[in-house]
Amino acid sequence: MVLILKRDYIFVWNIKTIIMRTILNSIGITTTIFMTSIFIPATVFGQQSKEGTVEIERSRILVEDVLSEEEQAALTPLDVFNSLAAGNERFVSSDLTARDHSMQIRESAEAQYPKAIVLSCVDSRVPVEDVFDKGIGDIFVARVAGNFVNDDILGSMEFATKIAGAKLILVLGHENCGAIHAAIDGAELGHITKMLVNIKPAVDISTKSSGPKSSKNRLLVHEVSENNVRINMEKIVKESLILRTMVEDGEIAIKGAVYDMDTGVVNFIK
Ligand SMILES: [Zn+2]
Repeated sequence: MVLILKRDYIFVWNIKTIIMRTILNSIGITTTIFMTSIFIPATVFGQQSKEGTVEIERSRILVEDVLSEEEQAALTPLDVFNSLAAGNERFVSSDLTARDHSMQIRESAEAQYPKAIVLSCVDSRVPVEDVFDKGIGDIFVARVAGNFVNDDILGSMEFATKIAGAKLILVLGHENCGAIHAAIDGAELGHITKMLVNIKPAVDISTKSSGPKSSKNRLLVHEVSENNVRINMEKIVKESLILRTMVEDGEIAIKGAVYDMDTGVVNFIK
């Protein structure tokens, strides 16, 4: 057994197959089909075997497929939305696409043509690319605690769409967000105090939930999370002439969603 550690992946070639390939190569027979199985960490697929790995066919690994300029240009905002929604369905059903990131890095080294920009919270439990089953070169991700818009984020969004051609902006909140909790409770500490000012408007307009005005009130936390997404979706078109014009011209769309950490489901806001 030969083990080659390569970033996230552990490639395992059966020694018998390597010998077979060598023999066949020596008599001029192509042996691509003899590439043996590749094992990748079981956590990627949510399955667990005795060795902590799952076995998948070599042909199922996405090796060099990185979005091209032509492919990006042919996409509509709706195509991109559907692609994200379908990717989340695969994530939820533990059917993530296996990718060889090392090869994808090399393929996308010269240029990038991502299809969307996602504004997410920094929360470590929200692995954005995985949540939408996307790989290298597929999406831009802007992250700030509480997923709110400011000048820097707007500049990043303008770059992602106007310059780099992305067709969709997604503001992605999540359940059980620490920044939302802190904003509700009026936490004060260092730069966090100033940062939470950005989330306060969502707290102020969240009056539908019964119960205490506290982060222990799950209904209130959910309401604030959704309102925070809505407020920032509106802020994007209100504060950026470039993005507003692109929306009006149908070049891009702006969507909002809240990620449910219990289920992995991204609930898009209507
Ligand atoms: Zn958060």
